[in-house]
Amino acid sequence: MKDEIFDITIVGAGPVGLYATYYSGLRDMKVKLIDALPQLGGQLTALYPEKFIYDVAGFPEILAKELAENLIAQAMQYEPAIFLNEKIIKLESLEDEKIIKLTSEGGNIHFSKTVVLSLGIGAFVPRKLDIPDVKRLEGRGIHYVVKDKSIFRGKNILIVGGGDSAVDWALNLEGIAKHITLIHRRDVFKAHEDSLRKLFNSTVEVKTFYELKRIHGDEHVKGATIFDNRTGEEIYLDVQHILLFLGFLANLEFIQSWGLEIDKNAIKVNSKMETNIPGVYAAGDIVNYPGKLKLISTGFGEAAIAVNNAKNYIEPASKYFPGHSSDFVPKKLKSK
Ligand SMILES: Cc1cc2nc3c(=O)[nH]c(=O)nc-3n(C[C@H](O)[C@H](O)[C@H](O)COP(=O)(O)OP(=O)(O)OC[C@H]3O[C@@H](n4cnc5c(N)ncnc54)[C@H](O)[C@@H]3O)c2cc1C
Repeated sequence: MKDEIFDITIVGAGPVGLYATYYSGLRDMKVKLIDALPQLGGQLTALYPEKFIYDVAGFPEILAKELAENLIAQAMQYEPAIFLNEKIIKLESLEDEKIIKLTSEGGNIHFSKTVVLSLGIGAFVPRKLDIPDVKRLEGRGIHYVVKDKSIFRGKNILIVGGGDSAVDWALNLEGIAKHITLIHRRDVFKAHEDSLRKLFNSTVEVKTFYELKRIHGDEHVKGATIFDNRTGEEIYLDVQHILLFLGFLANLEFIQSWGLEIDKNAIKVNSKMETNIPGVYAAGDIVNYPGKLKLISTGFGEAAIAVNNAKNYIEPASKYFPGHSSDFVPKKLKSK
């Protein structure tokens, strides 16, 4: 099957992988896009499709799912080969042939001259709470992601966490839910300053130093007991939904067996987005380098850098600087 060698294979179809796919087409490379999930879009579609994003250049505000749709439309212009439900579990460098071999969980093999790893946070495994009834009521009032805001309309909800997800969802559900309580075990939040300012000016009832102790309800959540971790004082909350935003556990163990250099639980890259394996690049949330910011906007830049370097790697005579996109408008858009 080595006649099926692609110029570039993007593993991970989140915003960064989608943009890398577009850029590969722009650079006239034969491109394949692979993702473990059944749909494209990464965190945008899997974790927070209905949340607004405010910090992507050119969009004062855009729903995550709409940003994903736009990125997909942009990437599809060059008709990439797409493989979904395809989790890559092995990466090997066939150095003599300058080819990268990827193997999926189902045993499929993919050959490519270059690879961009845009794996995000890897498989999405939400951090869970070790308290009774959490597991039993998952999907029946206990949530780790929000896929449909409408189920919270007119309900009392409890949000647990102090990071961006907790704060952003509290703000996004304000006006939809009847009442929102947000508890955090400390008084220091890890969320964006602007979101925090909005939170403290909102109707959300914020309780710091509070933790979840017990969940009440047989078939569905109907209440929660929270406690002050300084005094032990308990409060019963009449809530129908509990949203646990305690972060995600990134499982990067499989990557370590690929021979990649890891730095702070991420793939180490240089300023060309090169990993330590020739022909293998990485971009987005999965990478680390001095000054790295885990944001969509920075990931886009990293994708462009990775793809242009990959082009140069397989065609050393080609220019690194791609030119301006208006110089090569895709056929489908020419009439516009
Ligand atoms: C609630 C929330 C709100 C956020 N808000 C913002 C915001 O307002 N602004 C902002 O800039 N950022 C925000 N972020 C962060 C943003 O979503 C990430 O920075 C962004 O998604 C990273 O994109 P990515 O393409 O690198 O990775 P991801 O979106 O994580 O996509 C990675 C993809 O790789 C796939 N994958 C992983 N491992 C494999 C494998 N072995 N084989 C095949 N496929 C694999 C995954 O299935 C996934 O689809 C937010 C995050 C959360 C959780």
